[in-house]
Amino acid sequence: MGAVSHRRSSWTSRLVEWLKTLTFYEIALGMKATLTHLLRYRPVTIQYPHEKRLLPDNYRGMLALLRYDDGTEKCVGCDLCEAACPSRVITVVSAEVPGEPIKRYAKEYYMDMTRCLFCGMCVQACPVDALAMTREYEWSVYDKRHLFLNKEQLLAIGDRNFPIREKRLELQHPNVAFFNVAFPDSPPRDAAPLRTSGTG
Ligand code: SF4
Ligand code: SF4
Repeated sequence: MGAVSHRRSSWTSRLVEWLKTLTFYEIALGMKATLTHLLRYRPVTIQYPHEKRLLPDNYRGMLALLRYDDGTEKCVGCDLCEAACPSRVITVVSAEVPGEPIKRYAKEYYMDMTRCLFCGMCVQACPVDALAMTREYEWSVYDKRHLFLNKEQLLAIGDRNFPIREKRLELQHPNVAFFNVAFPDSPPRDAAPLRTSGTG
């Protein structure tokens, strides 16, 4: 009796499998899942460039050089960003500020953005906050030489992304003239504020 019942159930399951194959049951099941998602959920595709994603606050986009509120370049040509960069993106050509031998500035500054990882280590390394990461990301070019940026281009990126600039404090002690640091107890400095050559 048991053997007959077992044979009948095996025959039934084979018939079910055969009917499923004949009616494309698995495909219909898959299409049902697809259609359910299509009708139930909103599309997640963004129609770029007509629609753009909201970027997170800490988004790390194109790098920029910054200026103080009086137009002076913040960069003091210390090369720390160049040393910190793991991809050798940055080249700084540092020079003395004419007439002020203890002060330096970046006479030339280059970034080869084809190599950049957008890790932000250069920004962290800069002692005067002269570098910043913007939220610009639309930098596709046909010629990769256009991604080799010079100081003027990097300053222009900074100007358009950071219209509110840090106030440039009066330099109050000759030994801390490199940095924008205020020492309230130090005697006032008579000399005119530093303006590097070629800056606004
Ligand atoms: S973000 Fe990283 S890889 Fe790009 S220049 Fe700065 S340190 Fe180099
Ligand atoms: S950007 Fe900052 S770290 Fe780089 S050379 Fe200028 S001051 Fe130094």
